[in-house]
Amino acid sequence: MLFLSFGDSMERIVVALGGNALLHKGDPFSFEIQLDRATQAFENLYRLISENEVVITHGNGPQVGNILLQNEYSSKVANPMPLHSCGSMSQGLIGEVLTLAYDRVKFARGVSKEMAMILTRSVVNEADPAFKNPSKPVGSFYTEAEASRMKEERGWAVREEQGKGWRRIVPSPVPVDILEKSAILALLADGFLPVCTGGGGIPVVRHETSYFGADAVIDKDLASSVLATIIGAGSLMILTDVDGAYLNYGSPDQQHIGKVKLSELKEFRGRGEFSSGSMGPKIDAVIRFVEKGGKRALITSLENAHQGMKGQSGTIVVPD
Ligand code: ADP
Ligand code: MG
Repeated sequence: MLFLSFGDSMERIVVALGGNALLHKGDPFSFEIQLDRATQAFENLYRLISENEVVITHGNGPQVGNILLQNEYSSKVANPMPLHSCGSMSQGLIGEVLTLAYDRVKFARGVSKEMAMILTRSVVNEADPAFKNPSKPVGSFYTEAEASRMKEERGWAVREEQGKGWRRIVPSPVPVDILEKSAILALLADGFLPVCTGGGGIPVVRHETSYFGADAVIDKDLASSVLATIIGAGSLMILTDVDGAYLNYGSPDQQHIGKVKLSELKEFRGRGEFSSGSMGPKIDAVIRFVEKGGKRALITSLENAHQGMKGQSGTIVVPD
């Protein structure tokens, strides 16, 4: 039976997987758990994937955090790699987990589409104000003395996190291009399921004719939005661990936002309804996508992805 989405036809959809596609709160951080969680994720997604032109993107917070720790604690015996290389390692690791998990579901469900994992670079502007104002904490916690040593020795920017200790902070610039876009489009045209832009992509800056890795991190929701615009997707779907955005989130009178017009959502954002480290970037990403001509953007849970595409779940943002 053919599953039909919104427009009763095949859609090009960028599906951004949140951290819960690989780990749930309280899960031990093991390879096997991530493989199991990813398999569950594809059990929720295989119909959407087989009946639409889907591109998958994903976060990398816990994975890159772990790689940074490994870097740190083994630095006396193995040379630490720069942050952007740790990002590439996380793309490879998560790419492996997703590919193995997808193949399990593919064989079990008789899906013919093949997954192709693409190491992806996101171009950032060297003049982006984020480079002068690092804001994203990464890696382990340090004492004040350790933190000032890192600042001296490695030139890190560091910041105290209330009650938890000191951390390295890095810039989070805005991605302006996705370098592998043509490869992604070619794979789509050939019927593949591309997995790309992991962790927002590896940040690179251009110098004349070359690109260089930048020690920064890119927000995965924003990068997914940029990718969706660049490849002309009709829908951007952000899948997380809540069934959409809420007003007064966390209070007894919290209110689920269902179908919402762009201008209305911008008004909610202007009132400061969405936390900057979690729902805020998703709201910014969906607003940006619809502003740039996207037909609809959706924020919902992984479990409800299928109903979401039918317009029956989640926060659905449409043009005015
Ligand atoms: P992901 O890994 O999917 O990016 P995040 O933790 O960054 O997940 O974002 C999802 C979280 O955002 C939810 O678990 C929820 O607790 C939180 N959140 C903050 N503000 C809101 C809001 N206004 N509506 C819904 N969820 C919110
Ligand atoms: Mg997030």
